[in-house]
Amino acid sequence: MSTPSSSGHTGQPSGSSGNPKPGDDAPPGTAGTGQDVCPDCQGSGQINGRACETCQGTGMVNKGVGGA
Ligand SMILES: [Zn+2]
Repeated sequence: MSTPSSSGHTGQPSGSSGNPKPGDDAPPGTAGTGQDVCPDCQGSGQINGRACETCQGTGMVNKGVGGA
């Protein structure tokens, strides 16, 4: 059983929203990272009625996943 792998699917971040936020560990699309609830606003996207700067009001940040 051998599968011909011609086209690689890694290397290029395929995302329309290439907009890293201050709270991001890495830009969206980075391998080993994923969306997580913003620790500053707890996912609400707002702090004291103002847009959270950490997640830019999205309530989510890109964090590194996977331990060790
Ligand atoms: Zn936030």
